[in-house]
Amino acid sequence: MEQHVDVAIIGGGPAGVNAALVLGRARKSVVVIDEGRPRNRVTRESHGLLSRDGISPRELRRIAMEQIKAYPAVQFVKDTAVTITGTDGDFQITTAQATTYRSKKLLFAVGMKDLPLNIDGLTDVYGTSAFICPYCDGWELRDQPLVLIVHGEKAIHLAKSLAGWTDQYTICTNGPDEWTNEQREEIKQHNIPAFDAAIQRIESSDGMAQSVVLEDGTVIPCTGIFFAPKLVTGSDLPQALGCQTTEAGIVIVDEFGKTNVPGIYSAGDVASEMHLVVTAASLGALAGVSINGELLSEVWNSKN
Ligand SMILES: Cc1cc2nc3c(=O)[nH]c(=O)nc-3n(C[C@H](O)[C@H](O)[C@H](O)COP(=O)(O)OP(=O)(O)OC[C@H]3O[C@@H](n4cnc5c(N)ncnc54)[C@H](O)[C@@H]3O)c2cc1C
Repeated sequence: MEQHVDVAIIGGGPAGVNAALVLGRARKSVVVIDEGRPRNRVTRESHGLLSRDGISPRELRRIAMEQIKAYPAVQFVKDTAVTITGTDGDFQITTAQATTYRSKKLLFAVGMKDLPLNIDGLTDVYGTSAFICPYCDGWELRDQPLVLIVHGEKAIHLAKSLAGWTDQYTICTNGPDEWTNEQREEIKQHNIPAFDAAIQRIESSDGMAQSVVLEDGTVIPCTGIFFAPKLVTGSDLPQALGCQTTEAGIVIVDEFGKTNVPGIYSAGDVASEMHLVVTAASLGALAGVSINGELLSEVWNSKN
C-alpha cells in the first residue's frame, strides 16, 4: 500500500524533527522516516542549546516528539529509506520494510556518520570522556590533561581550538604526523608535546580515560581525549538522486536549503560544515519554511 504525503523527510534527528514541526504547524502532511541512529547517540549530555544545556539527546527527542503530537498530519516511522525514484511533485520512497511513500517534496536530513578510529579501548571512552568537538564537550574537560588523537592540518586546527579550554594537552598522531616543517615548528613553539608512535591502547575505567599507551611503551596519562573521526555522509540517497555534494559528502544547498535537484531540500549536518544540534535544528526549520513556501506558491500559481 502506498501513502501520499506533501513532504517526506528522510532522517529524524534535530534537523528532520524541527522541519517536521514547522511543516506540521503549516498544516502539511509529513512522513519522517528515521532509522534512529543519530550522530550523538553515544553521548549522555548535549551542550550549547539554549534552555536545554546538558540535556540528554534522548530526552531532547522525547520532548520534541511529545510536542509534535499536537500536529496530527505528521507521522514518524522507524524504518530506512532504501530507494527513491520520481521527480518534483511525485517522489516514491521505498523503505527497508517494503513500504512505499509518495511525496510532493523531499527533505534529506540524514546527518553525517563518525567512523571511530580503530584504536583498542576507544569505544569504551567515546561519548563519556573522549569527544570530537571542543564546543560540545570542552567545558567539561577544561583545565584537564588531555590527549588529542589527530594528525595533519586537522591537528593544528584542533590544537589551536583546544587552547581555549586547557593548556595541558599532548598530540598523538598515531603514525606519521603529516605536518609541514612549518607546522611542526608551530607545535614546538607552543610547547605542545607530540608523539608519532602508533597507539597500542587506551586505558580507562567506567568510560573515564586514564592513559594512552603507545607501541613504543610511552604512557601518556590523561583524563580526556579529543579525536578526529572519519566523517561520511549519513546516506548515499542524495547523491543517487543527483544532488551535488562537496568532496566530503556535504550536500550543497542554497540559502533556503534547496539542492540543485527540483523539489529536493537538505538540512542539518549533511548540508552544513557546522555540526551542532542548534544549527541542525535551525537549518531544518529553514528548510521547512522554504518547502512550505514552494508548496503554497504552486497552489497559488495554479489558480492564476
Ligand atoms: C560524540 C558527539 C557529541 C556531540 N555533542 C554535541 C553537543 O554537545 N552539542 C551539540 O550541539 N552538538 C553535538 N554533537 C553534534 C550533533 O550530534 C549533530 O550536529 C546533530 O545530531 C545533527 O543533527 P542532524 O539532524 O543533522 O543529524 P542526526 O542527528 O545524525 O540524525 C540523522 C538521522 O537520519 C537517519 N538516517 C540516515 N539515513 C537514513 C535513511 N536512509 N533512512 C532513514 N533514516 C536515515 C539516521 O539514522 C539519524 O537518525 C555531537 C556529536 C557527536 C558525534
